[in-house]
Amino acid sequence: MVNRITALFLFVLCAISSFSQPLVVAHRGYWRAEGSAQNSIASFKKAAEIGCWGSEFDVWLTADGVPVVFHDATIDGIRIEDTTFATLMNYRLKNGEFIPTLQQYLQEAQQWPNCRLIFEVKPHRNAKRDALISELSVELVNMLGLASRTDYISFSKNACKRLHEIAPDAKVAYLSGDLAPEQIKEMGLTGIDYNIGVFDKHPEWPLEAKKLGLEVNVWTVDGEEGLTRVAQMQGIDIITTNDPEILQRIIKK
Ligand code: MG
Repeated sequence: MVNRITALFLFVLCAISSFSQPLVVAHRGYWRAEGSAQNSIASFKKAAEIGCWGSEFDVWLTADGVPVVFHDATIDGIRIEDTTFATLMNYRLKNGEFIPTLQQYLQEAQQWPNCRLIFEVKPHRNAKRDALISELSVELVNMLGLASRTDYISFSKNACKRLHEIAPDAKVAYLSGDLAPEQIKEMGLTGIDYNIGVFDKHPEWPLEAKKLGLEVNVWTVDGEEGLTRVAQMQGIDIITTNDPEILQRIIKK
């Protein structure tokens, strides 16, 4: 009997410790892989291929209303928000791909059902455009049947609020790092996704967030040393990294 209880206790302990392993998110996809580039369709595929729990990407709305996957606000000095989609087709990513439309990107993601979509809505020029890009994003995600595997993140409070309103069942996390976990909870959001510097300044926030039922994601941590440190931090659910394979190796140890 005692042995059985001991075995059960050990089993529960193992289960708890394995649950507390942080999940791996590839930042802008796995772009350091060969043939990849930041926010390229290849980068999502490569993140999924190596078994990342999720892959992050950034979304802007062009002047003529096309959501595209791209990180910077500008390309070659031109603002994405002020540019037509046709103009963007003059550019290539570092791996030779065109800048993907959100629809093309999501259609690739449909082929990889085990990799979550960490969908960053970029902060647009004003609240109206923040709302518009949020609405178009949720509409497309829902239409393509990806709602259950898409988590939204944004530096924009407006976008976070709008995303939460129109996709109340989706996870929405705030990126800017200027709100305490309690304030995030009051806004109805589901998580904090903060820079490692924010958690170094507020080391109590991850566990505070956990107590409130919020999910905790940290970005962007790279390299053996940095990743080993955050992998051991208390209260971190998800680590967003440019080095997903290094993190996977650290977690396995
Ligand atoms: Mg991003």
